[in-house]
Amino acid sequence: MSLSACVSLLITGFTVGPVGEAEALTWPWHHSTPHNVSNSAPTQGGRSIVIDPGHGGVDGGTSGGGLVEKQIALDIALRLRDHLARLGFKTPMTRMTDTDVSRLFPSALSSRHKRDLQNRLDLIRKTQAVGAISIHVNSSANARDRGPIVFYAVHSDAGKLLATDVQAAVNAVSGSTQRPLPRKNLFLIRHAPCPAILVEVGFVTNADDASRLARPAYRQHMADAIAVAAIRSLREAPIPPPYQKASARNDWTLVR
Ligand SMILES: [Zn+2]
Repeated sequence: MSLSACVSLLITGFTVGPVGEAEALTWPWHHSTPHNVSNSAPTQGGRSIVIDPGHGGVDGGTSGGGLVEKQIALDIALRLRDHLARLGFKTPMTRMTDTDVSRLFPSALSSRHKRDLQNRLDLIRKTQAVGAISIHVNSSANARDRGPIVFYAVHSDAGKLLATDVQAAVNAVSGSTQRPLPRKNLFLIRHAPCPAILVEVGFVTNADDASRLARPAYRQHMADAIAVAAIRSLREAPIPPPYQKASARNDWTLVR
């Protein structure tokens, strides 16, 4: 199975200093608050689950079968948001429109790609989210590859539990038999301070997956399945400590 569809989440060969040296990041709700993080302050009563539609704007992700990854990811993410919000969770999103995430917070990072990834991660950190769910669409050189696959950080037991629950749920929706997979080189889920998963909802290169993903009703089933499974793991998940910018480090060299 190829991860080429998600190349934007892989950072290869970069070496930068600690984040605190690379950016002059400020807490967004004390300054200019981007419209799509208006509910992103640390929660008082409710618990936050960050929802991250992959790609966006100039970065379309993969495409095929008449589908564009950034659009499918956003549609399912918005449906997932609505479901989790109805259950009482706060649901900050990294994007709610067809835009990239490179300008969500002020940053001195020169690379749009790295700003995009950094901002997605910083939203998870700053909202003290109890969980994070990134939505993507897969592709493969093998047209027989099909079905959703849930990735989790290799060192995260809580992430594995979340991924296992969600994988079972999306398998039921899709009628497939994929297994959740550990990854050490996915920037967002590796650095998230909470259980975090990346859900590849299907393959645009598989005719069955593509025709299903083209149907709004199927996308709704997918979102509902992810939501119901996720809350089983995240309802009791601890709220991470407040984000300490000075102690935060990103290992931009960790990946293959
Ligand atoms: Zn992707």
